[in-house]
Amino acid sequence: MKAAVFHGQYRISLDEVPDPVIESPTDAIVDIEYAGVCGSDLWTYRGEGFPAPHRIGHEFVGVVSRIGSDVHDVAVGDWVIVPFRFSDGTCRFCKAGLETSCIHGGFWGRGGTDGGQGEHARVPFADGTLVKALPDGGRPAESDIPGLLALTDVFTTGYHAAVSAGVRTGSTVIVVGDGAVGLSAIAAAKLLGAARVINAGSRHADRNALARAFGADDTVDSRGEDAVRAIAALTGGIMADVVIECVGSAQSFETAVRLCSPGGTVGYVGLPHGVALDMATLFPRNITIAGGISPAHHYMRSLIPAVLEHAIDPGRVFTRTYGLDGIAQAYADMDARTVIKPLIKVSHGR
Ligand SMILES: [Zn+2]
Repeated sequence: MKAAVFHGQYRISLDEVPDPVIESPTDAIVDIEYAGVCGSDLWTYRGEGFPAPHRIGHEFVGVVSRIGSDVHDVAVGDWVIVPFRFSDGTCRFCKAGLETSCIHGGFWGRGGTDGGQGEHARVPFADGTLVKALPDGGRPAESDIPGLLALTDVFTTGYHAAVSAGVRTGSTVIVVGDGAVGLSAIAAAKLLGAARVINAGSRHADRNALARAFGADDTVDSRGEDAVRAIAALTGGIMADVVIECVGSAQSFETAVRLCSPGGTVGYVGLPHGVALDMATLFPRNITIAGGISPAHHYMRSLIPAVLEHAIDPGRVFTRTYGLDGIAQAYADMDARTVIKPLIKVSHGR
C-alpha cells in the first residue's frame, strides 16, 4: 500500500510500504478515506519532532475492513473515527476519560504502528480506540465527514483548551492564534456559552474573516505588545478571565499571560515549544495555567452529535483538498501558510 513517510526536515514522500495485517486478536484494519495534516505534523516536518524516518499522520477516518477474533464493538463495514492516539479503553486512565494517558496506548507512526496518512492502518485495541460516527456503524453524510474528521484532534484540542480554561455561559474569552486549533477554540468557546470571544494574533484578512465565521466577536490583527494594547482598549483594561493559547511559542504564551485578568486562567494545548513559565509573573496575579494533550476520544461522545446536528461546523478548518499523492504539497502549503489545514482524500483507486 501507499503511505506518507517522513524522511527528514522538509522531506515527506508517498512510499510503498507493507500492507497492514492483524497482529493481535484485538486489532482491526481500517481503510482510510480521509486524513488531516496537523500543526504537530508540521513541527515534525520542520525537523523538531521524532527523528526520521517514520510514518506520519494521526488524524483519519474510514471503514473497518478486517477485525481480529477478540474485537466485539466494531464490525467489518463500520464507518469509524480514529482518535490521534490509540488506547485500550480498559485501564484506569481510559476509564477516567484520559485516554491519552492510556497505560497500553500509543501514538500513530511510532514503534512500528501505521501512520494516518496512508491507504490503510492497523488499529491496536480496536474496541477501545475506534469510535463509530453513527450508533449502527453507518456512513454519515459526505458533507459531515470533514467535521467528524476534525474531532480526531484539531477540534477536540481547541475544545479541551476551552474546557480546561473554564469557559462557561457568559464568559469573555481571548483566543491567541489564527491556526486551525485557534479557530476550533473560538467555536468551542461559543459552544460552551461564551458571551464574547476576541481573537488575537492574525494579520491576515482571510483568517480574521474565518475567525468571525467561527464565532469571534472581535479580531485583533496584531501580536505581542500591540495586541496587549489593542485588547486593553477593547476591554476597558480588564482583559479576560479566560485566555486560550493556541500557538505554542514562547512569545505567544507570554502574550497570553499578559492578556489574562488577575485570578484568571490560561488554557493551553497544541504541543508548546520552548515555553518556560515565569512564576514571578504568574504568582502575584493568581494566574492558573490549565490544559495539556486533549483526550479526544473522551470528548467525541458529546461532540459527534454536535457535528451531526450542525451545532458546530469544525470541518471548515480544512481549506484545501489534496489526493494522497499530493501529500508533500499539502505539507509545503501548510508550512507556507497558504492553506490553513489540508484535507487528504484517499481514493483507493476508485
Ligand atoms: Zn487505557
